[in-house]
Amino acid sequence: MTEFTIKNADTILTMDDDRRELHGADIHLKNGVIAEIGHHLPERGEVVLATGCVVTPGLVNTHHHLYQTLTRAVPGGQDALLFGWLQTLYPIWSRFGPEEMRISALIGLAELALSGCTLSSDHLYLYPNGARLDDTIEAAAEIGLRFHPTRGSMSIGESDGGLPPDSLVEREADILNDCIRVIDRFHDASEGSMCRVGVAPCSPFSVSRELMRDAALLARDKGVMLHTHLAENDEDIAYSLEKFGCRPGQYAEDLGWTGSDVWHAHCVKLDGQEIDLFARSRTGVAHCPCSNCRLGSGIAPVRAMRDAGVKVGLGVDGSASNDSGNLAAEARQAMLLQRVAKGADAMSAREALEIATRGGADVLNRPDCGRIATGKRADIAIWDVTGIESAGSWDPAALLLAGPVKVRDLFVEARQVVRGGDLLTIQLDSVIAAQHRLVSRLMA
Ligand SMILES: [Zn+2]
Repeated sequence: MTEFTIKNADTILTMDDDRRELHGADIHLKNGVIAEIGHHLPERGEVVLATGCVVTPGLVNTHHHLYQTLTRAVPGGQDALLFGWLQTLYPIWSRFGPEEMRISALIGLAELALSGCTLSSDHLYLYPNGARLDDTIEAAAEIGLRFHPTRGSMSIGESDGGLPPDSLVEREADILNDCIRVIDRFHDASEGSMCRVGVAPCSPFSVSRELMRDAALLARDKGVMLHTHLAENDEDIAYSLEKFGCRPGQYAEDLGWTGSDVWHAHCVKLDGQEIDLFARSRTGVAHCPCSNCRLGSGIAPVRAMRDAGVKVGLGVDGSASNDSGNLAAEARQAMLLQRVAKGADAMSAREALEIATRGGADVLNRPDCGRIATGKRADIAIWDVTGIESAGSWDPAALLLAGPVKVRDLFVEARQVVRGGDLLTIQLDSVIAAQHRLVSRLMA
C-alpha cells in the first residue's frame, strides 16, 4: 500500500516555511509525496488514526558511522579523548568485512527508524577484508530508509605520520577510482531520490592535502556532495596549526572544501571568522552533541552558527562514541547542551526539532524533505503522546522536553516502515542475533 490518510492528529508540527502547527488535521500520502493537508480529508488508501499523536516530518541524520554499532562501549575506548579513542578502536575495525558492514548497518538504521529518522547519511571510511560501500547501501534499501552514504577514506598511515594503522589505509588512486564506481552505480540526483552518494575523506589528519583537493574536484565534476570531520576538539586544532600552519577553516577553504555542496561534522571549535566563512559560503554543519559530550570535545557554537545563518543539521555520530543511535534523544541533547553554554533561552524545543528535520534536510541539499507541505516527500513520523513519558504535558514541545523517544509509526516515500513501534521491513530479532554473533567473534 502506497496511499495513506493520516487522520485527526492532535498536532502536526509541519516545519513548513511558516512553521504552521495544525490541530485535528489530516495528511494524505500518495505516490511518494504529501498530496494534501487539511481538516476532514476524504479517507483514501489505508487510514491511520493519529488521535493522541504528534506528527512531525521524519527526522534527518547528517552524520553517522553505521559500522560502529558493533563497537559500542568498548573497554579502553570508554573514557578516552578522540585520538586515544581512535587508536583503541582501529585494530578492532581492521578485522571487519562485508558481513560486519551489512549487519551493523541494519542495526544502526533500524535504531534510527525506530527513533523517527527517515533520511540518514553515513560516513564509511575504512574498507578492510573486502568490505564495500555497497554493503551498507543494500542494508538501507532493505530497511527502506532514504540514504546518503558517503565513500570515506584514509590514506596516511602510522608509517607516514598519520593516526590510523597502515593496514586500514588505501592508495589514493584506488580511493578515487572506487568513489567514481559507487557514484556511477548508485547516485540518483532526481527529486525524491532514495540514494545519493557523497565523497568523504575521513579527516584532515588521515588523508593528504592532495586527496582533499582531488576529492573536491571529483565531487564537483560528478555533482555530488563533500563531507568530512572538521575542528572536532582542541587536539584537532593543534594538529592543523602544527601540520598545515593554519586553522581548519582556512585549510578547508584553501582546498575547495567550502560551499553549499559541503558539510562538515562536529565543528566544535570553529571561531567567529570560521562561522562567518561557513555562513557566507553556505557550508553546512552536522552537529553531534552526544558524541561531543562523550568524548569531552566541547560544546559546538550552534547558537552563534544559527544566528549567523549557517546551515546546521543533527547527527548521532558513530555508535562507538555516543553510544546510542536515537535521533530523537539527540535532538533533546542538542537543546540541553546549548542551554548549558548560553542559558535557558538559548534553544527552544521547537528550534531543536527544526534542526533535526528541515535543518538536516537543508544541510543535505534535500529541500524536498524535512517538512510537511504539499508536494514534499512523504517522510512522516507519528509519535504517540498518550504514554507515560508525556502524561501531563501541556504542549507538543513535550516531545523533546519529555518524550517519547520512539515513534509509533514511520513513513518513508509514502511507504510504511514502522507500525505500532515495530519495524515492518526486517526481522529485527534475527538481525540482533546476527549482531551478537559478530560481536562474539570480534571479542574472541
Ligand atoms: Zn564521525
